[in-house]
Amino acid sequence: MTQSISAFIDAIQTTLDQHADEVAELDQAIGDGDHLINLNRGIDALHTQSAALDEMDLSAALSKIGMALMSTMGGASGSLFGSMFVTMGKTAKATTADMSGFVEIFEAGVESVKARGKADVGEKTMLDTLIPAAQALRQSIDAGDSVSDALEAMLTAAKNGMESTRDMQASKGRASFLGERAIGHIDAGARTSQLMLEAIADVINK
Ligand code: ADP
Ligand code: MG
Repeated sequence: MTQSISAFIDAIQTTLDQHADEVAELDQAIGDGDHLINLNRGIDALHTQSAALDEMDLSAALSKIGMALMSTMGGASGSLFGSMFVTMGKTAKATTADMSGFVEIFEAGVESVKARGKADVGEKTMLDTLIPAAQALRQSIDAGDSVSDALEAMLTAAKNGMESTRDMQASKGRASFLGERAIGHIDAGARTSQLMLEAIADVINK
């Protein structure tokens, strides 16, 4: 994979901009409406560092991204994505620079979100996208599928996971205060995570 970090940042920004109204509405319905603002704050911080990030090795870049997200984003998602990237940076030190190594990095990142958020699948959060996505990617790579097939399997699982949050009652995050009233709405973090994975896969496929 030879794409620069800034290509990923740009692709993520583009898709979040394109879905800004939708995401704002999702977090307004069952959260406090700031999820996209939090994400944009993080992305703006990464933009100012993108030239430096492009010069760094993967491990250092992921750690730097994590620290930038932690200190700028705010919200539950800020500490979750922050610790995800810091953990991915640590993991990247010890992995091979191939697809299996990248999957290992992603899996470690998802594990750290689970640990930091004390949450798992079925609680109506971003983890309902991230966990099935990581599992599908791992399965597909281990089965010997091509990178593009594995990414497609990941995106299908991410989309199904995101959709599955619609019928859930939340047991984590602000939506958990709503009880049954959260049912019928997709979780904002599940949707943005799915959009970001789509953007990342697009850049890798190019
Ligand atoms: P806040 O909830 O503090 O306003 P954001 O609006 O930025 O933060 O992010 C909300 C998103 O964070 C939710 O939609 C959900 O996906 C995710 N989230 C909240 N709490 C948790 C948790 N404990 N574990 C995993 N994800 C969570
Ligand atoms: Mg919010």
